[in-house]
Amino acid sequence: MTLDDTAISTSAPQSRGLLLINTGPGKGKTTAALGTAMRAAGNGMRVLVLQFLKGSWDYGELHAAQLFGGDLVIRQMGRGFVKVGGAETDPEDQRLVDEAWTETCRAMQSGEWDMLVLDEINYTIGYGMLNAEAVAEALRTRPPLLHVILTGRNAHPSLVELADTVTEMREVKHAYSRGILAQRGIEF
Ligand code: ATP
Ligand code: MG
Repeated sequence: MTLDDTAISTSAPQSRGLLLINTGPGKGKTTAALGTAMRAAGNGMRVLVLQFLKGSWDYGELHAAQLFGGDLVIRQMGRGFVKVGGAETDPEDQRLVDEAWTETCRAMQSGEWDMLVLDEINYTIGYGMLNAEAVAEALRTRPPLLHVILTGRNAHPSLVELADTVTEMREVKHAYSRGILAQRGIEF
C-alpha cells in the first residue's frame, strides 16, 4: 500500500469543509497553501486567496492564478510591508487589515467559493491588528463545506485548537542565513 492509497482509503465518505493551518518558522507556509489551492482548482473547485499585508511585490503566483481563469483568484489586500508595535501601528495598515477582514467575512458567507486561503492572517493576529476570537467565531459559523487555510508564523492557540490539520514548518536551514537574497521563482 502506498502513502496515497492510505490517504485515500481512510478519507471520510462524506464531504466536509476543513480548517488547515500552515505555521512555524520554516519556509513553505504560503507556497504549501498555494499548492493546495492549485490542487483544489484542478478539481474544479473555486478558490479565493486573500493575502493580508501583502501588496506591491510582483509575485509569480499572481500571474499563474490567471491561467486558471476565475476559479483561482488571488487578491492582495495590503501594501507589502507593515509598521507594527502597539501605538506605532500605522492607521493605514490597520484600515487595510480591517478591509481584508470585511472582505473575508463577505467571501466566507457568499457561497461563491469552495476554498478560502487567508494568507499571512496569523501575522495580523499576532500583531494585534485582528482579534483571534472574532476570527474563530467566523470560522465556526462558516458554511460547512467551505475549506479554509490560514498561514503565517505563531498561529493563535485558539485557532490551532479549532483547526483540523495544523502543520508547523521547521527550519532546518535557509539560504538567507548564508546571505543569499530572495530568488525569483523560489521566494516570489
Ligand atoms: P513561502 O512564501 O516561500 O512559502 P512562508 O510563507 O513560509 O514562505 P513567510 O513567513 O510568509 O514565509 O515569509 C515570506 C518570505 O520570507 C519568503 O520570501 C520566504 O522565503 C522568506 N522566509 C521564510 N522563512 C524564512 C526563514 N526561516 N529565513 C529567512 N527567510 C524566510
Ligand atoms: Mg507566507
